[in-house]
Amino acid sequence: MDSISIMRNVKDASETFLPNGMSGFKEASKATIGILGSGDFAKSLAIRFIRSGYAVVIGSRNPKRAVGFFPPLVEIVHQEDAVMKTNLIFVAMHREHYTSLWDLKHLLVGKILVDVSNNVRINQYAEANAEYLASLFPNSTVVKGFNVISAWALQFGPKDANRQIYICSNVVEARQQIIELARQLDFIPVDMGTLASAKEIENMPLHLFTLWKGPVLVAIGLSIFFYIYSFIRDIVHPYVKNKQSDFYKIPIEIVNKTLPVVAITLLSLVYLAGLLASAFQLNSGTKYRRFPTWLEHWLQCRKQLGLLSFFFASVHTIYSLCLPMRRSERYFFLNMAYQQVHINIENSWNEEESTLGYVALLISTFHVLIYGWKRAFEEQYYRFYTPPNFMLALILPFTVIIGKLILLFPCINRRLRKIRKGWEKSQLTNDTSTILLQASPERVTVM
Ligand code: NAP
Repeated sequence: MDSISIMRNVKDASETFLPNGMSGFKEASKATIGILGSGDFAKSLAIRFIRSGYAVVIGSRNPKRAVGFFPPLVEIVHQEDAVMKTNLIFVAMHREHYTSLWDLKHLLVGKILVDVSNNVRINQYAEANAEYLASLFPNSTVVKGFNVISAWALQFGPKDANRQIYICSNVVEARQQIIELARQLDFIPVDMGTLASAKEIENMPLHLFTLWKGPVLVAIGLSIFFYIYSFIRDIVHPYVKNKQSDFYKIPIEIVNKTLPVVAITLLSLVYLAGLLASAFQLNSGTKYRRFPTWLEHWLQCRKQLGLLSFFFASVHTIYSLCLPMRRSERYFFLNMAYQQVHINIENSWNEEESTLGYVALLISTFHVLIYGWKRAFEEQYYRFYTPPNFMLALILPFTVIIGKLILLFPCINRRLRKIRKGWEKSQLTNDTSTILLQASPERVTVM
């Protein structure tokens, strides 16, 4: 069914479900929001609506059972009763159960159904859940939205990082009403146009997870490697050489040796990606050529790598505070470094190259050097002919710092800046740059 025929089916497209005082909408002080389902999301939605001055009616298959989960202000009735009480219904159910609403089809005619569902895999179904719902109930108006917000965030109020809600529908009036509704709940609605965008919106939370997958796997891999490395050097070696039992060190000291190495390695990986991107641009003589896929993914994951680095450093600080006889200046440097990293993560990940980030890396490197410097020159620390942990920890930071120093050479720096402003090497020889620019207008900000 096309959008025009759907519009005709909406009982009164100018009808609004918003409370008083909203310009452009007629008064609706007794606005009631219907929610089908009584699970976690339905509960959070209901609480949020009640706090914002709406009346909420929950439609459940089993109202008696559901009643205990909701605050007293929420009305809980059978599904068909809820549907009859309002024209705006949030379908807080999983896609697999949409067909169970089939018997309510005649009651849903002309009503707005808000699909809040997510999937467990990207592109799990050929058609988006919202499109599927629209195909099941062609005489209702389906709006997709609110799915990128977790039940937790709904209940406890949106924070800046997750205030955006993406909304789409084939019927403009319905879309506008849900957009206004989102605003009243203190979210930032983003108009995504027609239901054709529903799949993209449903994939969004999964993409977010995808960005974490690589960095988390890298962090786990590094943790396992450095833990085993320390275990062999600090537990197995004394035992094999002197029958000395240091197994008590396993839960605290070995973990605490692993944490900073992983933290500084992850932090270096954040900046190494930027360096490689700069090298790629210098070599290509343009910023308009696509980075290789692996580098593009790496660049996109920098924030996650930085946050994980911050997490490992924080746990290291907590662990270290639990250990006696720590020299305070070491932790002074560590804290300073990670305060910088934290500010950096909060403020400037997507902006121009971050000097602050490099300062953090320098301070962290200095911290590791203070800790391990003396050990580099004592034979006893080369157990099983392996270098001390801190030396491994410094490989990547040094690589990054040296790489950065090379990029700061005036001749290289000047060229890189020119490239970032749009200059292209090929401009000097021929005019193919225009074609290239049109074919691949990709711009990636490199830190
Ligand atoms: P849930 O806890 O499993 O609740 C689903 C509800 O669906 C049940 O409580 C049930 O309520 C109702 N339902 C209706 N017919 C059903 C049937 N045939 N079989 C089973 N249940 C049926 O799920 P949820 O976490 O609230 O999620 C609901 C929807 O919100 C999902 O589409 C999910 O993707 C989406 N979502 C959830 C979150 C979140 O953080 N939880 C975030 C974003 C989006 P009655 O028994 O009362 O009928």
